[in-house]
Amino acid sequence: DAPAAESAALLQRRQAHFARPQKNYYAEPPQIERGWREFLVDVEGRTYLDMVNNVTILGHGHPRLAEAVHRQWQRLNTNSRFHYAAVAEFSERLAALAPDGLDTVFLVNSGSEANDLALRLAWAASDARNMLCLLEGYHGWSVASDAVSTSIADNPRALTTRPDWVHPVMSPNTYRGPFRGPGSTRDYVAAVAPVLEDLDAKGQGLAGFICECVYGNAGGIPLPPGYLQQVYAMVRARGGLCIADEVQVGYGRLGHHFWGFEQQQVVPDIITIAKGMGNGHPLGAVITTRAIADALEKEGYFFSSAGGSPVSCVVGMTVLDIMQDERLQENACVVGDHLKRRLEALGQRFPLVGAVHGMGLYLGLEFVRDRETLVPATEETAAICDRLLQLGVIMQPTGDYLNVLKIKPPLCLSRENADFFVDMLERVLSEGW
Ligand code: PMP
Repeated sequence: DAPAAESAALLQRRQAHFARPQKNYYAEPPQIERGWREFLVDVEGRTYLDMVNNVTILGHGHPRLAEAVHRQWQRLNTNSRFHYAAVAEFSERLAALAPDGLDTVFLVNSGSEANDLALRLAWAASDARNMLCLLEGYHGWSVASDAVSTSIADNPRALTTRPDWVHPVMSPNTYRGPFRGPGSTRDYVAAVAPVLEDLDAKGQGLAGFICECVYGNAGGIPLPPGYLQQVYAMVRARGGLCIADEVQVGYGRLGHHFWGFEQQQVVPDIITIAKGMGNGHPLGAVITTRAIADALEKEGYFFSSAGGSPVSCVVGMTVLDIMQDERLQENACVVGDHLKRRLEALGQRFPLVGAVHGMGLYLGLEFVRDRETLVPATEETAAICDRLLQLGVIMQPTGDYLNVLKIKPPLCLSRENADFFVDMLERVLSEGW
């Protein structure tokens, strides 16, 4: 039919000029045209439930956000070297969201930029260079944030191409790592010790440690209890700074907590955020202490041309207002818990379901071929995602083996639509997996 042919031609034009490493979802993707709440609509008028969009936390096409952006664009947009209300107000609001003492904000445009800046802050404040990071992690595409990214799903060469200041430590994956279950904390902490002792023996300092406080890239697996308390203490004993990458897991998505680090009962020295804080508008931030922020003055000044612009600040504040007025964190908690219970019930019926990780609206359903050996069901996961698309659900795989369903919908997801997703997944699984 004509619309399908047009859409295929457009995909060819994309492939002709849009650089290839920028992948698209699906071999035969629908051409989407508009979005509303947790739905996307394609050019043929077909509606899809968007269960993967971890950026659009308010939902698609939010009229209040669109109106605020429109008004601010007409009034003023410039850079943060000028004095205007929005930059003062937004910085104050971000500082108020963070634990006491973390009261100083840098405004940038993405998660990669926020993590890059966090690494530079750790280097400047510690006068050291070495950084610890976790295996299976992802922190961004820029040179420094990519250096501490070790996920082999994102970059198959990651483990052999890290610069020498990067020291990955064993991934504390309590589901498929060498130590399993909540009792494995001691073993995972013990695996960090030799890396630090090696640096001590060489007389080298430690600049810090970066990680996600809930294991996002691996599918929302919680770190073992008390893990970060112990690792943070080991890092700080050597003068290092602890960076919490809250780009995906922070900002209310976990429902039960606003920040991922709350779940581990720690307070980081530097917090990085992006994604949801702009609901899709390019926004990122670093929140830290005054003393750590000031350390960057050794290198002169910091300036981002669009970071902290009036439009960006108004986007950030409107997102916070809408989250509060529509009680989206609470919705993530209630609908997320309901969704998790229903997914766990599927696990009783279908052996392919190995585990349901995560909390709130940050869930990962891991498919395995065998619950003893945990052989990842990678091809099955891809086929299930393709079949879900036919049934009107957008879903994608994540994790080093691409065998985990990445369940991160807009935080406005209704209980009825959560049920629709599980009903469709149940139907696909009943078809023969
Ligand atoms: N940190 C984490 C945990 C992420 O998931 C991502 C993006 N997937 C980033 C950082 C990088 O953010 P951005 O794409 O905004 O640069």
